[in-house]
Amino acid sequence: MKRAFITGVGGQDGSYLAELLLNKGYEVHGLIRSLNTQKTIWLQDIINNNNFQLHCGNLNRTTDITDLIHDINPQEIYNLAAESDAQVSFIEPEEISNTLAFGPIRILESIKILNKMKDIKFYQAGSAEMFGHAQEIPQSETTPFHPLSPYGCAKVYAYWMTRTYREKYGIYAVNGILFNHESPRRRLEFVTKKITNTLYNISINKESELVLGNLNAKRDWGHAIDFVEAMWLMLQQNSADDYVIATGAQHTVREFAEKCCKIYGIDLEWQGEEINEVGLNKETGNVIIKISSELFRPLEMRFLSANCSRAEHVLGWKPRISFDELIIDMCNFEKKKSTHGNNS
Ligand code: GDP
Repeated sequence: MKRAFITGVGGQDGSYLAELLLNKGYEVHGLIRSLNTQKTIWLQDIINNNNFQLHCGNLNRTTDITDLIHDINPQEIYNLAAESDAQVSFIEPEEISNTLAFGPIRILESIKILNKMKDIKFYQAGSAEMFGHAQEIPQSETTPFHPLSPYGCAKVYAYWMTRTYREKYGIYAVNGILFNHESPRRRLEFVTKKITNTLYNISINKESELVLGNLNAKRDWGHAIDFVEAMWLMLQQNSADDYVIATGAQHTVREFAEKCCKIYGIDLEWQGEEINEVGLNKETGNVIIKISSELFRPLEMRFLSANCSRAEHVLGWKPRISFDELIIDMCNFEKKKSTHGNNS
């Protein structure tokens, strides 16, 4: 039986990846910072699975990492532990860099010290934030990086360290450069979850308005379930390489909100312009969407669009869940959650 070790297993990607690997017959070990119920909420379906084991520890402590890798003796390590919100990284750049930049080194060094260079495959979670002020359109594995946040800078550092350990020590170490990927498990800080959650609350009269920033901002939004499959595929090849993963299609925040309103049965109409633009519920005449200049990004990633041909040709990977299906999944979750009294 193959053993995998996932850092950040309690998050969106970690929990979906754990489910995928358990379904593939792996023994899965997950690292989590604390066992409080909020941190393990997405693990409820697998926490009692005999092939799943949670370990409490911190990616910022080398001994935690080396001891765990020694004891678990995994064939695959997926490093997903991270503060996933680039904006938050401006508030605590030093602390966040410790995990994002040095966390991967602690894992790679452990692999080296334990003399497991030929036995362990390593996945490092990169991000489209590394392209930031993109130097070319579309972005591929050869596009130069130009990060715009401490988060993006730390990810670029981790990217190069992963490559360096691959080239210097022959470790099977790969970088996945993943564009935005969403799901019902996204945190509320992200615009997709904020929209699906708040508009649902508006549709049941629990909240009255949704305040957004730049409605015309574009993102390439995929479903996290598809993206964790790409992570796994990256570790199943004959040789290690880096891959850009995205759907290849971009949509605006506006479009996301419009589709979401349709699903919730809200008849939405836009009125006004720029910062004064509002979204009206045509049926009630109420303003349900407002714009706040405070939510605009001073440094907005521009022209992000992906060329995923390497992933398509080498991994045979393509997203299976469409943009519309992603939104339906997220909206259905909000409806069900409300019925079952889940607060996430
Ligand atoms: P990320 O910035 O790609 O990591 O993901 P977010 O979900 O935080 O933001 C996606 C896009 O939505 C960005 O271009 C934001 O400027 C835009 N956006 C517009 N309104 C909001 C909002 O209220 N919250 C957030 N988080 N993003 C918003």
